[in-house]
Amino acid sequence: MRLYTHPACLEHDPGPGHPESPARLRAVLAALDRDRFAALDRIEAPRASREALERVHDAAYVTRILESAPAEGLLRLDEDTLMSPGSIEAALRAAGAMVAAVDAALNEPAGRAFCAVRPPGHHATANRAMGFCLFDNVAVGAAHALAEHGLERVAIADFDVHHGNGTQDIFAHEPRVLFASSHQSPLYPGSGAADETGVGNLANAPLPPGTGSQAFRRAWEDVLLPRLHAFRPQLLLVSAGFDAHRADPLAQLQLETDDYAWLTTRLLDVACTHAAGRLVSTLEGGYDLPALAASAAAHVAALMG
Ligand SMILES: [Zn+2]
Repeated sequence: MRLYTHPACLEHDPGPGHPESPARLRAVLAALDRDRFAALDRIEAPRASREALERVHDAAYVTRILESAPAEGLLRLDEDTLMSPGSIEAALRAAGAMVAAVDAALNEPAGRAFCAVRPPGHHATANRAMGFCLFDNVAVGAAHALAEHGLERVAIADFDVHHGNGTQDIFAHEPRVLFASSHQSPLYPGSGAADETGVGNLANAPLPPGTGSQAFRRAWEDVLLPRLHAFRPQLLLVSAGFDAHRADPLAQLQLETDDYAWLTTRLLDVACTHAAGRLVSTLEGGYDLPALAASAAAHVAALMG
């Protein structure tokens, strides 16, 4: 299994006190240490091409982001999304990791990868940066699989505690992509009601604050995993946010670290049943550093089987 990351992803710095800090990625990489995770094939993420970004983002938006990184200090794009001098390189590597991981997954049997990158992506829409996200990394990967590999069915599973509104918006009219998400509701960004179904390709499981392991697992077993199996994806992508953990400061779900291993094993079963084991996961949220590190390690260990 491959691990994609890049030192540039540590150079995106939205400022002191911001929860989406470089320390998050440092914690994840420290947890995926070379002793316990010696079997990981560690690869430097390439930059995403403009063509790859423009499959899901408006050309004018891509230009605006690429041209707006400040030479020093911070540029505020919205209330909680900021760019620093290192943000462009980080964002290009974060999206590029997905493209490279999708290529590798499709070019060899049972290809699996985890992209340890930031900034995260699933809130960025076709033309708007929001929720700490600049480019929608997982969407760039899915669109690349459709366009370059000719796939007809790509599924995206999103278990970040926030709804992946950007990914949903980008693919709401694309029947070749199934988007399946569990998330807390009410919570930022406010979308993800169960009746948001797109062209029959969206499966949303909103969970009330306080939801714990049992109800979380039931939502996946009863609603989301059956949808994923019924779709028979040729490739499974995962928006892996770990902020539904009970220790996370930004939300009120009550998951334990073990829940991430449990769900990952079931997602891998979807990939092995329908997609020849091809699964690519990318880091989204997770803001309590010890919980993030332990949960990401549990996720990657489960992916390694
Ligand atoms: Zn989140």
